[in-house]
Amino acid sequence: MPDDDRPPIERILVVTAHPDDVDFGAAGTIATWTDAGIQVVYCVITDGDAGGFDPSVPRSDIPAIRRAEQEAAAKTVGVGEIHFLGYPDGRLTVSFELRRDISRIIRLVRPQRVVCQSPERNWDRLGTSHPDHLAAGEATLFAVYPDARNPFAYPELAEEGFEAHAVPEIWVMGGPGQAPMSTSPARSTARSRPCAAIAASSRTPTPWTSGCAPGSGERPSRADCRKPPGQRRSAPCGWADAGWDPATEVTARRR
Ligand SMILES: [Zn+2]
Repeated sequence: MPDDDRPPIERILVVTAHPDDVDFGAAGTIATWTDAGIQVVYCVITDGDAGGFDPSVPRSDIPAIRRAEQEAAAKTVGVGEIHFLGYPDGRLTVSFELRRDISRIIRLVRPQRVVCQSPERNWDRLGTSHPDHLAAGEATLFAVYPDARNPFAYPELAEEGFEAHAVPEIWVMGGPGQAPMSTSPARSTARSRPCAAIAASSRTPTPWTSGCAPGSGERPSRADCRKPPGQRRSAPCGWADAGWDPATEVTARRR
């Protein structure tokens, strides 16, 4: 569909399985969007309660820790609204309940673009295809089409006041052929290492900062990544210099 047929992008909803998925998968791109004045909202399906590295940390503390980490990382890229769905980590399935709950968030946020994980396995980067990621991607695509736009799907949503909403655009991350997020040679200096903003998270035993400076070969400090949007020396994640390769974009309207 030609670009001029699409509505202007005012709100974007990012749906991921775990806290930190978006930080590894798209945070730099998110920063470019929020810097451009677009509202970005996160929906995180689980609390990441099966994650962490330190056995001395009580397991019951992990959900709160990971939620707080996600909230802090979101702020560094200009995202202030996060909806946690509270599903158990490691046991995500494409259930009707999950489709309904994502549909509820879509109807609430009413985005012009949804970003989700790929439901297709990436054989080149198996870690990208965690079972929860595959389920989250599939459930989100089902929620985009047909659930959220169908006023007769999940009548309880209408009863709660959430009217149907059609999402015009879907962007998928981590799918087959998406070697670290962009296949464009022009962006080959930009890698998929996470933003320094999450370098000290409970999911990251050692800081990862390589490749954080798109195109320049520089490595911004963590302090730089923590600056508010518009004040950073560079985008926090490397491959975000020009957004994603167009090949990763799918339009939901083209069906
Ligand atoms: Zn994950």
